[in-house]
Amino acid sequence: MITLLQGANYIGGKWINDTGEVFEDRNPSDTNELLGTFPRSREQQANLAVAAARAAFPAWRSLSRINRAEFLDTFVQLVKSDKDELARIISRECGKCIAEARADVVEGIHTAQYWFGRARTPSGEVLASEIPEKDSYVYRKPKGVVIAITPWNFPFAIPLWLICPSLVEGNTVVLKPAEETPLIAQCLIEYFEKAGLPAGVLNLVQGYGEEAGWPLVTHPDVDTVLFTGSAQVGAMIKEACAKDYRKFCVCEMGGKNAMIVCDDADFDLAVNAAIMSAFRTTGQRCVSVERLIVQRGIFDRFVAGFVEKARQLRIGDPLDENTFMGPLVSASGGEKFEYYNELAVKEGARVLLDGGRMTEGNYGRGHFFRPFVYTLEHDSRSRVLREEVFGPHVAVMPFNTLEDAVRIYNDSEYAFALSVCSRDYRKIRAVRNLCDFGVGYVNLPTIGAEVHLPFGGLKKSGTGMPSAAGLIDAVTHRVSWTVNHDTEIRLAQGLSGGISE
Ligand code: NAD
Repeated sequence: MITLLQGANYIGGKWINDTGEVFEDRNPSDTNELLGTFPRSREQQANLAVAAARAAFPAWRSLSRINRAEFLDTFVQLVKSDKDELARIISRECGKCIAEARADVVEGIHTAQYWFGRARTPSGEVLASEIPEKDSYVYRKPKGVVIAITPWNFPFAIPLWLICPSLVEGNTVVLKPAEETPLIAQCLIEYFEKAGLPAGVLNLVQGYGEEAGWPLVTHPDVDTVLFTGSAQVGAMIKEACAKDYRKFCVCEMGGKNAMIVCDDADFDLAVNAAIMSAFRTTGQRCVSVERLIVQRGIFDRFVAGFVEKARQLRIGDPLDENTFMGPLVSASGGEKFEYYNELAVKEGARVLLDGGRMTEGNYGRGHFFRPFVYTLEHDSRSRVLREEVFGPHVAVMPFNTLEDAVRIYNDSEYAFALSVCSRDYRKIRAVRNLCDFGVGYVNLPTIGAEVHLPFGGLKKSGTGMPSAAGLIDAVTHRVSWTVNHDTEIRLAQGLSGGISE
């Protein structure tokens, strides 16, 4: 289907390549493979895209909510028939294993289906008034122009989490995808074009964050910024939006997620859940676990079982259905991983798996690494126990009482994904009530979210306004609307409606 070498921006319904400069898109499993070149956009392209979105807004908002959502249904029909091809593009572009890449496409489809269906459900509320002749409503209005800035690790699903609610609620959108995954972003926009979405309703600006993303974030004619990515960039975006009286932002960011494994846990289930949480997507999920908090009674046995399994994971070509772990996404991702592995040693880690770079044979052409696993006593001052590495880097820490486990778990600036493995409902309930998290699991890995559930974190992980289904509040204003059915004016709180002359 799509063999693309020269990508373009999509602005006002036209594919445009006017930057003069491009950036390269390479396969992280084999950096010799060039997948395409894409426009290195800057302020000029950002301005054009915002102007196109603004121009398309009046006509788009005037369609019915159901008519707007019908474009998502057409989009889904088109994507479904190309699901496998799209998954292969994702695998080649960001190194995700093919099954996970397929799941990324399926999650995108589910998101579009969810919002298509939701268009026929109530979007506001009917409330009582103090005055019997009045009807009061809460009515949702679109915000206007929405900027969606997205990360590379769910390059199909996450843009759709942000685009679908925005469009259904009547906003127009500019998407700035991650520079690691411009090709799949271009494909996604092509499907909306084929679905007949009117010009300017959804625009695409490719490029680097500081050059293409920042002019969109700071543009004075933007109403809402939806950002998913690292806490560092999210903090800058929050600050910039706070300075603009009309701008609203939602930033969903990283995690330093943990799994609490109690003595009474189903042992094999807990080990498997830990392996999936730590190494699926090569540890590069916002919900990946980098801290395993394990009760002392089973600590040694758990560490041995976990290390044994981690040692045997199949690392290799993500297009091979049998591969469990592909490469890291980029050279800089590899450098960051190595930096934190060295830091762990300096901070006193007992290293059990070395996290070494794999250079033999085909591995040498990509960013392949083995898992890095170590044990360490919890210490609040340790940076490796606090900072997000975003790779297969895992600390295993012992705890004595459940109170200790909760304290260790909460000793983090992040609060995103949590799993607890236990057979004791009292412990499970205590963990739910006392730990800070946004996405919690019991006797499960921290991966496997579904689009109708809230997905977002607290503290440094998010703004408490979860992605996907929860985004409706970010892309609409809730206004009150009161209608009088009497011929007299009657006011609330006993205030007279008469005028004395
Ligand atoms: P990143 O923060 O480096 O980049 C995310 C996006 O922001 C990219 O499109 C990038 O170009 C853009 N960007 C970078 N600097 C910018 C700037 N100055 N102005 C405007 N835009 C800018 O993140 P990444 O490496 O693509 O993704 C990994 C991070 O995303 C991890 O921290 C991960 O935990 C997080 N993440 C969070 C969620 C979630 O739902 N909370 C989901 C996936 C990934």
